[in-house]
Amino acid sequence: MLPPCFPIRLLRSGPLTPNVRELVFERVDLAPFVFEAGQWVNLVLPLPSGELRRAYSIASAPDGTPRFELAVTNTGGPGSTYLHGLRPGAELEAMGPQGFFTRPLSAATPSLFVATGTGVTPLRSMLLSALGASHPAPITLLLGVRHEGDALYESAFRDLAETHRSFRFELTMSRPTDQWEGRRGHVQAHVPELVTSLGRGDVHVYVCGLLRMVGAVRELLRKELGFPRLRVHSERYD
Ligand SMILES: Cc1cc2nc3c(=O)[nH]c(=O)nc-3n(C[C@H](O)[C@H](O)[C@H](O)COP(=O)(O)OP(=O)(O)OC[C@H]3O[C@@H](n4cnc5c(N)ncnc54)[C@H](O)[C@@H]3O)c2cc1C
Repeated sequence: MLPPCFPIRLLRSGPLTPNVRELVFERVDLAPFVFEAGQWVNLVLPLPSGELRRAYSIASAPDGTPRFELAVTNTGGPGSTYLHGLRPGAELEAMGPQGFFTRPLSAATPSLFVATGTGVTPLRSMLLSALGASHPAPITLLLGVRHEGDALYESAFRDLAETHRSFRFELTMSRPTDQWEGRRGHVQAHVPELVTSLGRGDVHVYVCGLLRMVGAVRELLRKELGFPRLRVHSERYD
């Protein structure tokens, strides 16, 4: 069965980093947008060359309103270039919600979230949902970016980690400046330590980003750390 299709309007667009824009949309019919944290929508983009469909994970938590947020990296390709140029008031068709990259809140276990770049968006949605629960299980978010200016939502994640004991935020950079005193290298280098610090017993790992990183983390978990497949959840963007 095809997912529901509905018109949406862009309310706001602004930079999260030099290469990533936050887009806030609202359903034109003002009905609540019902979705599960971690799901995505397909946007139908009316390009001069023809209609194009591109998937975007929902970055905001389900809140019973008609609004939702996306974060779009400009890859230089047609879809993201179009979305970066979209002005408030513009209307598009959306199809969704879709996807099974979700985390049940009722039986939530300690979780390691691993993302690079805008791969963090579905994890942000899951995190914001989880922190609203009465007894949230511990969550560590490991975000990998290239250098300092690329860390989307960094100050918001740091604030959440200050105010919620169940949440830990770790940032690693593959090409930081000499001034950066935090973690360095790819996310894979930090996964073993962070999984262990969550206790390992019943930890689930949620990984999102481009195929190369997702594949490398899955392989590391399975082959080097002996993680059962059922405790590794992933979403790929390419
Ligand atoms: C389930 C799902 C959820 C997605 N969620 C998001 C999201 O929340 N934010 C987002 O920016 N993209 C997301 N994407 C990717 C998005 O659908 C498009 O592929 C992306 O915007 C590129 O489209 P394009 O037409 O600009 O470029 P294309 O010409 O289609 O692709 C150009 C290149 O960009 C690479 N690429 C795709 N996505 C990214 C990315 N996020 N960062 C860096 N390189 C990328 C591809 O590997 C490809 O080589 C998601 C994809 C899927 C399947």
